[in-house]
Amino acid sequence: MFGLGMPELLVILVIGLLVFGASKLPEIGSSLGKAIRGFKGAMETKEELPRGEPSKAGGPFCPACGKSHAADAAFCPHCGKAVRPPEKGAGA
Ligand SMILES: [Zn+2]
Repeated sequence: MFGLGMPELLVILVIGLLVFGASKLPEIGSSLGKAIRGFKGAMETKEELPRGEPSKAGGPFCPACGKSHAADAAFCPHCGKAVRPPEKGAGA
C-alpha cells in the first residue's frame, strides 16, 4: 500500500519507537483515536444541521418524520406522532 513494503513500515515503526519511546506509543494511539472520534462527531452534527429548513412552511418540524406541521397541531399530520408534550396544569 502507498508503495511501501513491510521493511519500510518496520523502519517507520522503529523510528517512531525511537522518537516517542515505546511507552508513549499507546498514548499517541489513544489520542489519535479520540481525535478521529471527535472528527466523526463533528461530521455527524454537520450533517444533522441542514435537516430542518427555516420555517418556510410556517410551522415547526416533526421530530419523528422531519416534516413541517401547523404550529398549533398537537399531532403530526404526516406520521401521527405527538409533536408537543402534553401540557400539564394549563387546562382541563
Ligand atoms: Zn411526523
